[in-house]
Amino acid sequence: MKSRPARRRPKLGMTWLSSCGGCEESILDLGPDLAGILGQVDLVYWPIGMDGRMEDLCKVPDGGLDAVLINGSVRTEEHVETAGLLRQKARIVVAHGSCAHLGGVYGLANLFSREAVLERSYGEDGPRLPRLLDRVKALGDVVKVDVVIPGCPPTPDRVREALDSLIRGTLARGAVLADDRALCRTCPRGETRRPDTRIRRFRRVHEATLDPDLCFLEQGIVCLGPVTRGGCEARCVRGNLPCRGCFGPVGEVKDQGGGGVGFLAALLEGASEEELEQALDGLADPTGLLYRYSLPSSLFGGRNEGEGP
Ligand code: SF4
Ligand code: SF4
Repeated sequence: MKSRPARRRPKLGMTWLSSCGGCEESILDLGPDLAGILGQVDLVYWPIGMDGRMEDLCKVPDGGLDAVLINGSVRTEEHVETAGLLRQKARIVVAHGSCAHLGGVYGLANLFSREAVLERSYGEDGPRLPRLLDRVKALGDVVKVDVVIPGCPPTPDRVREALDSLIRGTLARGAVLADDRALCRTCPRGETRRPDTRIRRFRRVHEATLDPDLCFLEQGIVCLGPVTRGGCEARCVRGNLPCRGCFGPVGEVKDQGGGGVGFLAALLEGASEEELEQALDGLADPTGLLYRYSLPSSLFGGRNEGEGP
């Protein structure tokens, strides 16, 4: 009996831009499965895990990589160049994690000028850095993104799903590897959320003794589950922490923070001016809370070039 020809191993690249390294760790989070997965791909470029220089990448023919996973946000001119080169080399570009997907936590720097950020971080005599862009961008702002793995960092199941699909040859352009429904729909506390809940005062997590089974909103704690994609296994909520939105806006919500303002306003409906002020007193840093991961890709954070799913 003739043996079947071995399936060609897909050529893969992985790299980071402005990143905390957590998304790289999300690959290691695959644990014992990682060796098996890496045995089925031809890992061509992964600077953090193996020797890999830009010169080597330049030698790869255009379209020579089946896919590249890029994590981190776009902060410097060097990041723009790296993203552009990888776009040229890879047939499928995957935005890996919230920073690449939405701009991420570093995107909150867009509330300040580039000069103010440098001054705050390094003082007047800053180090020699690659030139910073005027603002932090998501990967989709500078190159076309084909696939998104959301999360800060993404869960191992989502990373595994991406790599398994690549190996099977089913990684489809346009995919966002997450649930298309809001997190509340699959949240273990979902049934305790009442449609007529009204909040008198928002509280911060450390100000309350939290009931681990009750919806956070019922306890006066802001949770972004109503406007955030599910698919994260509700890990934070199960750990008794409210959702902060790292999977990005659910399909019908264009601007995650704006959507958050909308549902929080509904919770305060009917409150007098005095009650409103009292309720809002408990909201420290509303922008940082509602746009924690998505400011660069929000309606007022701006999106210039490129398109993404
Ligand atoms: S998405 Fe989160 S874990 Fe990944 S690089 Fe950004 S901050 Fe780090
Ligand atoms: S608001 Fe948060 S805690 Fe409540 S059901 Fe939605 S995700 Fe769960």
